[in-house]
Formats: sequence, structure tokens, C-alpha cells
Amino acid sequence: MTMRRFPVAALTTLTLLACGGGGTTGTTADTAAPDVEDVAEDVAEDAVSEDAADTLTVADTAQDTGGSTTDPSVVTLIDQQTVTLTAGESAPITVTVPEGVTSVTVSVLGDNDGMYGLASWTGPDDTVLVTDGWLDGDGAMQGLCLDCPNRVALSEGDFAAIAPNNPVPTLLPGTHTFVAFGMLPKEVSQNFQGPCGDDECTILDQFQCPKDCAATPVEGDVLVSVHAKVAPTETAPVSGVLNLNLHFTGAKGWSAATAPDDEELQDILDKVRAIYAQDSVQIRIGEITYRDIDPSFHIIETVQGPNSDLMQLFAQSEGAPENAVNLFFVDEISAGQFGGAGVILGVAGGIPGPPLVAGSWRSGVAISVQEVEGAPAGIDTTVAHETGHFLGLFHTSEQDFGFGAQIHDPLPDTPQNDETYLMFYTGAGDTLSEWQGRVMRSNPVIRYESEDMP
Ligand SMILES: [Zn+2]
Repeated sequence: MTMRRFPVAALTTLTLLACGGGGTTGTTADTAAPDVEDVAEDVAEDAVSEDAADTLTVADTAQDTGGSTTDPSVVTLIDQQTVTLTAGESAPITVTVPEGVTSVTVSVLGDNDGMYGLASWTGPDDTVLVTDGWLDGDGAMQGLCLDCPNRVALSEGDFAAIAPNNPVPTLLPGTHTFVAFGMLPKEVSQNFQGPCGDDECTILDQFQCPKDCAATPVEGDVLVSVHAKVAPTETAPVSGVLNLNLHFTGAKGWSAATAPDDEELQDILDKVRAIYAQDSVQIRIGEITYRDIDPSFHIIETVQGPNSDLMQLFAQSEGAPENAVNLFFVDEISAGQFGGAGVILGVAGGIPGPPLVAGSWRSGVAISVQEVEGAPAGIDTTVAHETGHFLGLFHTSEQDFGFGAQIHDPLPDTPQNDETYLMFYTGAGDTLSEWQGRVMRSNPVIRYESEDMP
């Protein structure tokens, strides 16, 4: 919903996902290095063997090594393992997905100046989730694989993908192989137009002279995690629990001390509860953690590009519970970076954001509490909408700019251009479909209710 008013020219390859998509996260190698390396070594010794060639093989005995979750329905297949990208790609990474799997999430945590994703993902019996070669096609320009059986969106800093996120891909237990991808986008100058071939990437060059804006492949390490969600019973439960970490900058006068009794904030949470409680979703809000962060984060001036304010904000979730979605309440998310047009009501760390990790460049969603005249959505539906992105939902319909094909989500039960839907790009509605509920519950951060466990 957020960047809906951006001038078209500002829709760079990075932002595509309008309100939330250009993700950014950050665990970062810097802040988390010692722990991460320790864990990675353990995993490597216990469960990873160097196959022939360059292939990393992780045995299905790689249980929950990181302690990132105690949910028995979530099996950690790889926990923040260091993987080296050469010329922008990893060697093929192989995992054994357990029987009873209902979803698999792959996370790639990188540096705050990179753009990350998956170059390919295949499963047993020649099943394809992410199509090899898609980055060489038209979709790479938008950072979104519309032709992949399982839609994925490139993301700044950190990336995650959940499969299945629609009925097309077949997710089978057994051997899955994927290739992590990273590139360093070229800085876009503030010039609107320049001659092609001058090597300067202007706003219009992104569309007219793509070579001037060609990204550089990443050479370096990323941290890869893979979580499988397993049905505790024969079929996946149709309900779940979502924990939230609320982070306060002083915006609205809210703080960790006052927020639990603040009527306005609690009304917002009640509305989110009601939206997520609808029959198609049945996600209950569980534990809520209240935290204060540095007040300097109350205005977010940059939401894109290396080490943006937004990434720094999301990284403030370091130390918060990992089995929760982080919500950051700020006074303003400035659209000035995009020529000052429009207002950003909220931004999600990704579609989905990296689950079960705190402190990454993309760990959370930012919500502006600024009163915006004529805004299509209130703070309450904005929280529900952005959290929907973070859990894995795309816009049911993107804004129709009047040229090119309008983009819709890959779900069969979300009507196109229906503004009563929560995930319509304006974010003003509150309806969620059965498939949207299923995608949300397939996120490993959603745990099943205890009565659904065997
Ligand atoms: Zn949105």
C-alpha cells in the first residue's frame, strides 16, 4: 500500500513490491558474527558433508541445531550456515525435506548493500519451485519471478521464500536443491535521463539503458537457513498463534511502559486480532513483547539502498524473541527518497521477511503513526497488511499504471482489483481468503495451537 503514489520512474528494480517488497534485513554478519560462526561450524561438523563437486549436502538428521524455535512442528534443516557466493551464486545447496512437510522456508541473510534471492529451487521427481534461469529473463528487472511455480521476490539485505505460496508448485518430501543468489545493485543517480552507454545509471536508464544499471555479482558469504513446517496431524491445522514484538521510538508517546495500557494502541491490536481471527485465517495473537528502541529511529528517511534507515531500524530487533514478528512504530517513513511524492504508511521487511531470526536487516515491519489526510488505510489495517506481507502474502492486485501488465497475486481465490481485500495494494480492506490464510499459517513463525498437537 505504501509506495502507491510513487511516480513510475521511481519504481526501481528494487522497489517493485510497492509497499513492502523491497526488503532489507540484516543480521548481519557484523553484529552476529561470533555466534553465527559457532553455529555454522557445529552444523557443518554434524550434518553437512561435502559431496562430489561443490554440492553441500545436509542430512535430514540436521535437527534443530540453533534453538531458534521450540515449536515441534518446525524442523530446522539448515541454521544460519555460512555459504560463499561466487560470481553471485552459491554452489547447489541440498537438503532432505521430511515426510509430512507442509511448507519449506529458505532464508538468505546477506550484507546491507546487496540484493539477494534464489536463482533456482528444485525438488524430487523433477518438481520445480523456482525456475532456473529466471534471473536472465524479464522478471529479473522487476525483482519478481512471476513465471516461477512458486513466486519469489528479490530483497535487499536479506531474502526469504516460502513454498508453496500458491496451488501450482508441488512440495514433496525428499531431496531439494537450491542456489542462493546475490548482486550489488548500481546506485541510481538523481538525474532523470542521460545518454545510454555513459555508465551512469539515471532514473530512466533503468528502463531505457539497462546496461548502464547492470548490477555487480556478489562475491562473499551469506548465511542460509532452511525451515520445514511439518503437520502435527494428518493435515495441517487450520489455526495458529502469532507472537508479536512491539518496538517503540516514542512516536505517539507510546513506550514499552505505557503501551500495554494505552487505549489507542490496544484498539489497534484488537482490530488486528479481529482481522486475523476471520474464518479463513484463524490466527490468534499470542505473546506480545513490548520494547523501547532509540528515539532517533522515529523518522525513517531512507527505505532503500545500502544501509538505509529502514534496515537500521529492523536491525534494532536484535535480542528480541525470535519466534515473533517485529512491529516498529515510527512518526514518519519519508518518501523523500523517491522525489517526495506520496506517503509511506508502512513497509514490510520482505514477502516473506526472514522468519525466526531477530536483528536482521529485514526483521520486521515499520508502521508510520503519522496522521495522513486521505490515507486509504488506518494504522490498524496497515499493521495487519504489512504483517501479511511479512508472513508471505503478495498484493492481491498491484496498482494499474496503465501500461504493461497489471500484477496480481498467484492465488486462485483472491478476486482481482477488489479493494475489500486486506492485501489489495491500497491496504484499506480487511478480507483474507482461504489460500491467504493457508500461506500465512505456513510461515514457521506461526505455531500451531497446543490442542492441535499430537
Ligand atoms: Zn502492501
